[in-house]
Amino acid sequence: MEDRELALLKELLTNWLGELLSHAGDTVMDLRSYDDYSPDPLDQAAFDAERSFNLRIRDRERVLINKIKRSLEDIENEEYGICEDCGREIAFERLKARPVARRCIRCKTKQEKLEKVMGI
Ligand SMILES: [Zn+2]
Repeated sequence: MEDRELALLKELLTNWLGELLSHAGDTVMDLRSYDDYSPDPLDQAAFDAERSFNLRIRDRERVLINKIKRSLEDIENEEYGICEDCGREIAFERLKARPVARRCIRCKTKQEKLEKVMGI
């Protein structure tokens, strides 16, 4: 991978992480406001549903944040963009579309087929 391509991907990842982290702060504030819950059971159910929805999103965000951090670490260690399975370079176009990808398209497709066959 060329240096300017790597620089672009690093910028993508850094901006993405910044966005997620500022957004994660919002969710925490939202959750805090649920402390003053309503005594009405119907309202309370709606609150609970929204709360668990927010928690699920926050969970997913946390996973994503960790993936992005891992990719940024890989860049620092000059291990970024190498397929976990076959050790080949992951195509720049793929990384641009999905900067946290850890497998090349061939291994990813193979894995997805396998998952389909196994019914995962
Ligand atoms: Zn591969």
